Amino acid sequence: MAEETLFTKIINGEIPADIVYREGGVTAFRDINPRAPTHVLIVPDKPIPGVNEVAEADAEVLGKLFLAAKKIAEQENIAADGYRLIINCGKNAHQEVFHLHMHLLGGHDLGCMVAA
Ligand code: 5GP
Repeated sequence: MAEETLFTKIINGEIPADIVYREGGVTAFRDINPRAPTHVLIVPDKPIPGVNEVAEADAEVLGKLFLAAKKIAEQENIAADGYRLIINCGKNAHQEVFHLHMHLLGGHDLGCMVAA
């Protein structure tokens, strides 16, 4: 059996987290180390390790990550002012948790993209 990821344990309630959204195979919870006033991780319940491992069969749930992002941004009152969505993939992006997730960051001016 595949090893449970940290995020699977959060999704299953084995590790506590501040869950803000749960719908259609997607769960979202606040990042434990927030980098912005709003920092939510949007995670497919299916433990896809990262973008390199996504398959055609995952297309529906991947679309649902964006629908969740839109709904959570509205919920958090950051939709109008804007926000940033980030998916880190692999070593150069400093991916720490190998369970695909989208960061939703907002609540203040986030500056330009990434450091050069
Ligand atoms: P990555 O670098 O893989 O894109 O992001 C992983 C994120 O997961 C980091 O921002 C980190 O703060 C967050 N994180 C790591 N462990 C936990 C945890 O136990 N609970 C929550 N809520 N977030 C976590």
